Amino acid sequence: MKSKADVVIIGGGVNGCSLAYRLAKKGLDVVVVEKRYLSAGATGACGAGIRQQWSTRENAQLAIQSVKIFERLSKQLGQDIEFRQGGYLIAVHDEKEMKQAEKNVAMQRSLGLTVNILEPEEITGVVPILDIKGMRAIGATFCPTDGHANPFKTTFAYADAARKLGAEINTHTTVINVKTAKKTIRAVVTDQGTIQTDVVVNAAGIDSKTIAEMVKVKLPLTPFRKEILATERLQPLFEAMVISFKDGIYFSQQKEGQIVGGIPIPEEKGGYKTMPTFAFLSHMAQTLTRYAPVLKHVNVLRHWTGFYDVTPDARPILGEVKEVKGFIQCSGFSGHGFMISPMVSFLLTELIAEQKTSEVLESLSLDRFKGKNIEKELSVVG
Ligand SMILES: Cc1cc2nc3c(=O)[nH]c(=O)nc-3n(C[C@H](O)[C@H](O)[C@H](O)COP(=O)(O)OP(=O)(O)OC[C@H]3O[C@@H](n4cnc5c(N)ncnc54)[C@H](O)[C@@H]3O)c2cc1C
Repeated sequence: MKSKADVVIIGGGVNGCSLAYRLAKKGLDVVVVEKRYLSAGATGACGAGIRQQWSTRENAQLAIQSVKIFERLSKQLGQDIEFRQGGYLIAVHDEKEMKQAEKNVAMQRSLGLTVNILEPEEITGVVPILDIKGMRAIGATFCPTDGHANPFKTTFAYADAARKLGAEINTHTTVINVKTAKKTIRAVVTDQGTIQTDVVVNAAGIDSKTIAEMVKVKLPLTPFRKEILATERLQPLFEAMVISFKDGIYFSQQKEGQIVGGIPIPEEKGGYKTMPTFAFLSHMAQTLTRYAPVLKHVNVLRHWTGFYDVTPDARPILGEVKEVKGFIQCSGFSGHGFMISPMVSFLLTELIAEQKTSEVLESLSLDRFKGKNIEKELSVVG
């Protein structure tokens, strides 16, 4: 392992690897430190949906610009990340939700996004297996350029491209301390040795709170336990991701034919338990077959847990932390960190390599929680 680097990134998930690639492309000497294997955190557990339909302007902007990057990413990285654009269909269940949906759609359209409000009878034109009565929908919104990619292939493609550009990626290496002097980053201490550096990126997912404590920074992060399942492979039935903010359900059909989806468990209160539960299976099966009765004889093959790193406003914490020079935040993704990773790494690369900041980065700084008027992202599942 190197003993010196321009930048040390803690965490080998999609955000850490994507940033390593972009920084290495700018000619910086980058080291990634991952305590387990690449994509061992939330990245490897995720649904990997890519949605541009958000309620806050920043999230919509980040997602829209990220989709533009996803569209050419396989070619850029030289590996197929299985990016597909089947759209996202968001169910709307009552008048209150419809009012919010209309507001969201107006804002999203002002950013140039093609997104439509569907009448109930138009829903099955997009996803034929849905039962409108069962899903209790009075309409839906649909954006045809939303999509999905393979989270493992994306992370490994970034990592391979970063290595080719000279980045060093250390797996099975744990960060145990981050050293500062005069409120400035000096070194990262791992169980395999120490790396001298002026810049540390905290991309450690739910563990980023512990990493921040090493430099006496408090992050308002809460881990939320999530469960998700995959069924056996089926013939192609639909292309869009179906979600409902009210029911919390999301599901899509993968390239190989499995249905992958999740739903929050009503009595779940968060925490670090990793054991999957029967309560989830039962609640998911009941809701999924209410939405799509045709799936009632389908077998579930796999079921696993993962964690959201949730902030009070469901938006990430990005950029340099004012109290510690060189400590860069890249976490708090609150369940949507895969889809915005291309733009997150783009903006953080501008910040680290060119000292360039942006309105979006400023609005997502840790400092925002000192203010009173925090705008909460409303378009979240779970
Ligand atoms: C069930 C589920 C479904 C989801 N669905 C979606 C979706 O459809 N779309 C979407 O955009 N997002 C989704 N997400 C959220 C998404 O997975 C995350 O926001 C994203 O993957 C975060 O990536 P990351 O690189 O920031 O963090 P992670 O992937 O969590 O990576 C952090 C890494 O840091 C490492 N680490 C921690 N501590 C240390 C240490 N001390 N030393 C070294 N390494 C350390 C961990 O091992 C881990 O690999 C979902 C998440 C879950 C759990």
